[in-house]
Amino acid sequence: MSRAGNLPLRILIIIPTTLLFLVGAMLIGGIFVHTSLDTGRAFGHQMAEERSKRLASQILQLTEQLPAVLTLNAEGILSGRLDIQQPESLAPWLYTQIRQFERISFISVALPDGRYITGARDPGENIQPHIAANFIDGRLKLAGYQANPDGSLGARNSELLDYDPRQRPFMLAALKTPGELAWGSIYHYAGMPDFGISMSLAVLDAQGKVIAVCGVDMALERLNEFMADIPLGNAGVAYLADAEGKLIATSSPTLPFVDPDNPSNRLNLATHPSALLRKVSQYQVDDRPFVGALDAGDSRYLTNIRRIDLGYGKHWQLGVLLPEQEFVGKTEQTTRHALGFVLMTLVLLALCGALLGGFIARPIEQISQLANSRALNALRQNSFKASQIREVQHLSASLAHLGDELADAIDKLEDRVIHRTQQLQEANDKLQQLSIQDSLTGIANRRAFDEHLRQQWLNAKREKQPLSLLLIDIDHFKAFNDKYGHPAGDQALIQVAEQLAQQLHRPDDLVARYGGEEFAVILPNTTVTAAAVLAEQMRQAIAGRPAMIDDKPYFLTISIGLSSVIPTAEHNTRALLQRADQHLYQAKADGRNRVSMDEQ
Ligand code: GH3
Ligand code: MG
Ligand code: MG
Repeated sequence: MSRAGNLPLRILIIIPTTLLFLVGAMLIGGIFVHTSLDTGRAFGHQMAEERSKRLASQILQLTEQLPAVLTLNAEGILSGRLDIQQPESLAPWLYTQIRQFERISFISVALPDGRYITGARDPGENIQPHIAANFIDGRLKLAGYQANPDGSLGARNSELLDYDPRQRPFMLAALKTPGELAWGSIYHYAGMPDFGISMSLAVLDAQGKVIAVCGVDMALERLNEFMADIPLGNAGVAYLADAEGKLIATSSPTLPFVDPDNPSNRLNLATHPSALLRKVSQYQVDDRPFVGALDAGDSRYLTNIRRIDLGYGKHWQLGVLLPEQEFVGKTEQTTRHALGFVLMTLVLLALCGALLGGFIARPIEQISQLANSRALNALRQNSFKASQIREVQHLSASLAHLGDELADAIDKLEDRVIHRTQQLQEANDKLQQLSIQDSLTGIANRRAFDEHLRQQWLNAKREKQPLSLLLIDIDHFKAFNDKYGHPAGDQALIQVAEQLAQQLHRPDDLVARYGGEEFAVILPNTTVTAAAVLAEQMRQAIAGRPAMIDDKPYFLTISIGLSSVIPTAEHNTRALLQRADQHLYQAKADGRNRVSMDEQ
């Protein structure tokens, strides 16, 4: 029986075990997932940083060529190794240089009078480098030449009139800061899908006078190739923008850096069609890169934006953005597997718990049921002695032992109860006998007489039958006692009682000791006549046979008063007794040893 608040054993075993495991699994799982996600993100950030650094290094390697070429040429001019008064003599040197740097489109020297010579290569196209030179022939005239194998001017193959380098941006920029390297802006190559950037240097003589301007131009298409070649996963993005936020290159044509309708127009980050690029435009980075996560659309990107310092007052901005999902997605999958595993283990554990709980709890439950059923024999012969659980064996053995002792105690108790009941019955019988028997004579006592008279009175009244009563008194018994002593008197009383009793034959007749040496006889269904006959027989019996005491005869007589009545509601036993007593008195008065009775 289980009351509220009483938990079954198997529940107590299964639930805490399962709960403990669940809490443990959740804790470990939580820590594992958290750590895995963190590790995934950290790895993503590391990867973004590595890609960004690699790109920055590639970009710098390329752009560093410009100041290197300019410095070299300026030194050549100042040392006199390059003779600027004979510009055509520079052709082999410029030709050698242009062949050396395949991304450079122009390497030029211009003079303050407008003369100009350049080693050139068409950007984006694999045309042999060639030489172009300006000549003052009345007016400025630019012509193109093929290069001889030694780099000297070969055949003239084109002519362009009216080219004045002093009006060109590279020269104007150099002259703004004479003696210092000056970056030009990024520009679009007319008629080509490519952009370039120039750098120039106004070379000063010892007096600080400009003697020449060196220029160099580089095609930027190569930057797009760097971006496209760097591995960025499935959906990673890289971009390069100038200080104003205008794009220079991107990692994918799907993320354009020029306006498709106007290919000479570079797009700005802040107004770019891509929400992701518009978002990064908000991040202005200085010396320290921005490292963080940006949300764009449904995705989150691990972002690394760094500043690339090109030197000489120019810097660009490089961004690498890798989708977080690619780094934590694996973790999520692993987590799902781990959760599945935990769940399965949990089910298995609950199952094991149920089995174990059953294994432990079943014998205890059965013993408990046995003990509750109060089946003593089942308890004594309980079959759990063979249980594999030591405690259950002990409990079982104790219960069996208890059962044996209890059965033994019950047996003994039953024997004792039977024995005691018997004794009690005997004592009761004896008591009953004693309560109705006269202790001296053994005939009925006064109590029994009263009860018998009451019953026979009711019977006689109901059946309208006569009821007769004799009161008997031993004559001169005081004198007998005085003469022979009380012990002899007692013997005489016993023998008189016996004699009187022998005269009665009907079951309902009763002789009782009424008191002292007086007896009373109840005779139901006996008329006064019949009673008178019996009274006379009694008188004669006593008078005719002496009491034998110590083998000596002692003669006694009795006087008898007889009354008889058919009881009705008007009569009662007291009147019957009174009348018998009056007749006894009369018998005494008439001389004793006689019967006195109502008139017949
Ligand atoms: P009466 O003929 O007038 O009846 O004379 P009585 O002597 O028999 O009458 P009384 O009433 O004077 O005496 C009764 C005597 O019976 C007194 C007593 O000694 C004797 N007696 C009464 N009960 C017992 C008894 O139990 N044992 C003995 N031994 N004597 C008893
Ligand atoms: Mg008397
Ligand atoms: Mg007497």
